[in-house]
Amino acid sequence: MEFSGKRVAVTGGTRGIGRAVSLRFASAGATVTAAYLSNDRAAGSLLEEAAGLPGEIRVVRADVRTSEGAVALIDAAAGDEGHIDVLVNNAGILRDAYLAMMSERDWADVIESNLYPLFHCCKWGVRKMLARRNGVIVTIASISAFTGNPGQTNYAASKGAALSFTRSLAREVGPLGIRVNAVAPGLIDTDMVASLKPELVESIVRSSSLKRMGRPDEVAETVAFLASDRASYITGQCLIVDGGIV
Ligand code: NAP
Repeated sequence: MEFSGKRVAVTGGTRGIGRAVSLRFASAGATVTAAYLSNDRAAGSLLEEAAGLPGEIRVVRADVRTSEGAVALIDAAAGDEGHIDVLVNNAGILRDAYLAMMSERDWADVIESNLYPLFHCCKWGVRKMLARRNGVIVTIASISAFTGNPGQTNYAASKGAALSFTRSLAREVGPLGIRVNAVAPGLIDTDMVASLKPELVESIVRSSSLKRMGRPDEVAETVAFLASDRASYITGQCLIVDGGIV
């Protein structure tokens, strides 16, 4: 079991990509704590799905846009052992609108939901990795950080910032034994995509080499690779998982 005995924290770990990440780590023996915002049903069904896996999944309702929420997640993930091995920053939202029509609320919601959790969770997560001078952080960005998308100035800006954040933090904590990387998915079949305009979905699928959406488990596999010792000399990088768009 590649992650046997490892303690993993996943933000937004109960639905979509985060859910696949939680299941991937628990399938490999990890003890996973998954934070979610409000959807108790999804959290409950994850616990049912995880029963019988070699590892364990716990869920915590915690708003990781706030310091309190991040601390709740990281403390729950650390448990009595007081450390975590892996932090996956996955929680994020979309509020698409053309810039000329975008409300200040839509701008602020996306920046707060996609960027503030990086600050809070990495800050408290790094503290729990320092004692052992060991740990891995993986952040879910997006190819929109590279390509941009009409109607997604707020989202693309938040994901571009996530990549810059990743590179800076990697330099800062690399000497302390902590690796920091990102994954940039293309179009992945989750509830988030259901909220996109069908024309945008079709045009993204058409522009991909593989001519299909990705699956959450295909992103989770890349996260697991970056979190594993197989990636022990990789830090400050972004792996693109987009079926050949970028
Ligand atoms: P999703 O299906 O909408 O799931 C989002 C998850 O994040 C849910 O578990 C949600 O909790 C949680 N969440 C949102 N805000 C939170 C907060 N403030 N505190 C705690 N949990 C919070 O999204 P997804 O499609 O899996 O996307 C996951 C990540 O991948 C996001 O960062 C997204 O930007 C990125 N991404 C997705 C795609 C794609 O095509 N799907 C492409 C590129 C990048 P509740 O269930 O309680 O609402």
